Amino acid sequence: MVEIKTDAALDAMREAGRVVARALAATREAAGVGVPLRALDEAARAVLDEAGARSPFLGYRPSFAPVPFPAVVCVSVNDAVAHGIPTGRRLRDGDLVSVDCGALLDGWAGDAATTFTVGTPRPADLALIDATRRALDAGVAAAVAGGRLGDISHAVDTVAREARCGMPADFGGHGIGRSMHEDPHVPNRGRPGRGFPLRHGLALAIEPMLMAGGRDVYRTDPDGWTLRTTDGSRAAHFEHTVAVTDRGPRVLTLL
Ligand code: MG
Ligand code: MG
Repeated sequence: MVEIKTDAALDAMREAGRVVARALAATREAAGVGVPLRALDEAARAVLDEAGARSPFLGYRPSFAPVPFPAVVCVSVNDAVAHGIPTGRRLRDGDLVSVDCGALLDGWAGDAATTFTVGTPRPADLALIDATRRALDAGVAAAVAGGRLGDISHAVDTVAREARCGMPADFGGHGIGRSMHEDPHVPNRGRPGRGFPLRHGLALAIEPMLMAGGRDVYRTDPDGWTLRTTDGSRAAHFEHTVAVTDRGPRVLTLL
């Protein structure tokens, strides 16, 4: 069932989203050559704690996962696409780092992701980051009242195709509200003018994951969580929680 939110609920989700944005900024600040991935989790945890927010990631165990997720952020490095676990592995010069974070504040959820480089960036990684961010921007711009869910999917897909990037089949965005994952599923591919009608009060997490190798296949690490490209190519992931409103798309996970 798809829940349409009141304006008061969207305002509350904006506060949850702001905490997510602050936590992501903190992970970016904490990152650097030689820094263990776990330090990014600690930085995000400190922001959530200070805001009085809970993590919807910590202890999360969907059907595909063999163990509950052990952190408040996913950290996915280089050929890892998403769902990476922040371990003691230390960041190296030139690493491409995707961080995904959620927060629950006063009963409402926010969910966002960003990708950045550490040390000296590879030009190809900067291009991949740019394409993935543009795919998100296009998806957000298509989250317009009167449109259809397929408009968002098609907008994301168009940018991914132009950039000759693959996207992991089966993974996409989602409705969001009192819990992090709600209906509807937001595919990263679709046909414009099709699917669930977009109307004021619909809240969605839009999240393109682009793989530079151009294929849509991925594999899952033995840890049961980390999604990785099969060809060793690198991946980037950007996500915002967005509300469809009569005044246009409202991004809830900005600082
Ligand atoms: Mg997320
Ligand atoms: Mg999400």
